[in-house]
Amino acid sequence: MKKIVVTGAAGFLGSHLTRQLLSQQHQVFGIDSLSSGLIANLQEELNHPRFEFRSLDVSKLRVDHLDHFGHIDEIYHLASPASPKFYQMNPFSTIEANTLGTQNMLELAKVHGAKLLYTSTSEAYGDPEVHPQTEQYRGNVNTWGPRACYDEAKRLGEVYCYEYYTRYAVQVKVARIFNTYSAGLRNDDGRVISNFVSQAIRGEDLTVYGDGTQTRSFCFVDDNIRGLQKMMECDQANGEIINIGNPKEYTIIEVAQIVKRLANSPSNITFHPLPIDDPKVRRPNIDKAKTILAWEPLVELEEGLIRTIEMYRNKLKAELSQKIV
Ligand code: UDP
Repeated sequence: MKKIVVTGAAGFLGSHLTRQLLSQQHQVFGIDSLSSGLIANLQEELNHPRFEFRSLDVSKLRVDHLDHFGHIDEIYHLASPASPKFYQMNPFSTIEANTLGTQNMLELAKVHGAKLLYTSTSEAYGDPEVHPQTEQYRGNVNTWGPRACYDEAKRLGEVYCYEYYTRYAVQVKVARIFNTYSAGLRNDDGRVISNFVSQAIRGEDLTVYGDGTQTRSFCFVDDNIRGLQKMMECDQANGEIINIGNPKEYTIIEVAQIVKRLANSPSNITFHPLPIDDPKVRRPNIDKAKTILAWEPLVELEEGLIRTIEMYRNKLKAELSQKIV
């Protein structure tokens, strides 16, 4: 049994990871400011004997806040809004969670001799001029725009990791996570899969931004979490940046058509203005993950979407029946 800290534990990935770690018999200390995470995501875990939760802001967290938890083996630092809608609503706390928050967690790792995995992002590549993106590509990020608070904060978070790895030999690993989905996303998350699936189920218009020719590559949450855990376990991943994502690329209009078909939905597809600095293409090169971690995604988009649609339907039904009662 390991003692593991998960920041962002009430978020989409954090709650999934927490459940997984508890099922593997570990003891988990979950931290979340609940700015974009939802306590409802941890409803079943809150009374678990091996789980403790604190609503704390990682940018203000001190090492002694966790003294009572004892010796810490691993830290997964996930805390940060990740949907453009939420990070643009909270730019300063997004910056702080990824910079000050990352330093605070690295200090904790240093004091405990713990391993730390930092979840960076494909947004570190900005609007990429190299395609697909390898970890060596240094990116094309705009400092002067609505995505900068997230993209540049994540990049600076990586810098903190580099400094703690090289100066203090903290066992740091950086995962650059590409678009990830499942029904665990908030209904109002604002990202494309969550929007399209809930729109298709409700028979509302599927809102494509721009002409829909921009591309993304979508990873099902189970594959992502398996990748993060492999990375944490792998000594060869220390001091490495590794892309974690699904390399199969789709245009957004294709995604709209697939969701509409799989949900058997009467919805129309409508077109809306493209957000500023929306990356035109995105697809990970995952050779490094394959070589170092022996990891690759297993769930195809259609299979993941079928599961997501089914679970969203159940989630919406449950919410509706609660409202009626
Ligand atoms: N998008 C869209 N309709 C939506 C939400 C998003 O067409 O309702 C587009 C968005 O403009 C982007 C892509 O889908 O090109 C992925 O957006 P998302 O917000 O999911 O994540 P991003 O990869 O941009 O961070």
